[in-house]
Amino acid sequence: MSPSVPFLDLARWSRLAATELEEAVRRVLQRGWFIQGPEGKAFEEEFARYCGVRYCVGVANGTDAISLALRAAGVGPGDEVITTPLSAVFTALAIRHAGAVPVFADVDAESLTLDPRRVVEAITPKTRALLPVHLYGDCADLPALQRIAEERRLVLIEDAAQAHGARQEGKPVGSIGAAGCFSFYPTKNLGAFGDAGAIGTNDDALAGRLRVLRDGGRVDRDRFGVVGFNSRLDELQAALLRVQLRHLPSRTGRRKALAQRYRQALQGSRLTLPPEKPDSDPVYHQFVVRSSKRDAIRESLDREGVETLIHYPLPIPHQEPFRPFSRHPVPVAEEACRTIFSLPLYPELTDEEQARVISALRNADR
Ligand SMILES: *Cc1c(COP(=O)(O)O)cnc(C)c1O
Repeated sequence: MSPSVPFLDLARWSRLAATELEEAVRRVLQRGWFIQGPEGKAFEEEFARYCGVRYCVGVANGTDAISLALRAAGVGPGDEVITTPLSAVFTALAIRHAGAVPVFADVDAESLTLDPRRVVEAITPKTRALLPVHLYGDCADLPALQRIAEERRLVLIEDAAQAHGARQEGKPVGSIGAAGCFSFYPTKNLGAFGDAGAIGTNDDALAGRLRVLRDGGRVDRDRFGVVGFNSRLDELQAALLRVQLRHLPSRTGRRKALAQRYRQALQGSRLTLPPEKPDSDPVYHQFVVRSSKRDAIRESLDREGVETLIHYPLPIPHQEPFRPFSRHPVPVAEEACRTIFSLPLYPELTDEEQARVISALRNADR
């Protein structure tokens, strides 16, 4: 039997880029400065430029990026934050970490991102913020959500953990709301070699509050002003992320090329392909297709050695810790969870492997 097609294989890239990555590690080890040093500062500047924002604040992970952004924007206990039921559980976890209450509004049946109509219905006098997710690397409906946020005086925070470099109406995600939150978890489009995250913003005061919050509440060397958090981006990860960032444009290009090939090959099949939106330039964190025969197709692919995954098998409000926060029905998200599955798509997937995925899908569709 031919070798299997793994859903993801991170070692392929770390082997390819070994020389550059090892040189970055060596530089940090020899400098002997491991937290809040020159690599972190340089990465923040480089990533801010990449995202088209004035400020970037590095933190320990993407979950902290969201919860600290919410706190820095004044969201806290008693406040409600409207978000999507179809995301990593960590999106909702971050709202709880900020002390606020997650309110799940259903997704749009086409885009699978937060439906602005359901958002309007979910607003109460306690609503303080909207937290859309740029799911699978494609943009949430930010123009509509931005209008709602302005009219109702709500803070708009973007969960851009899956969408580094994606654009909507020409603008990079993370630069549109009050803050954009990024994860550099190893499997993300811009991945570290451990945990890391960052917040991008154009708001000078917000960036200042974030720098204080991530460093224990420290305002200067010996003075602490608030009860902060220990959530810093370390120098090793920052140095490695600078290497990763240099390669991100070409690796995103490869993701887009693989996505186009899936689209061409699967047009006319019975699978529902990800929507192509006119104003959106997605970065294909995942290539998610839909079928009412999802489980049978996945089994058939599995027999041919093709690994697939489900992002996500359950809406967040159906997960144990979030059941008490279930307030509105989410039938569209529930239906999506029954039909979606993700195909292998990463820059180092070979053309030959992708051809095997496509042929396995054709066999399963017969
Ligand atoms: C990965 C992810 C997070 C959490 O990021 P971590 O770095 O793992 O804390 C939050 N939201 C979304 C949409 C994600 O994909």
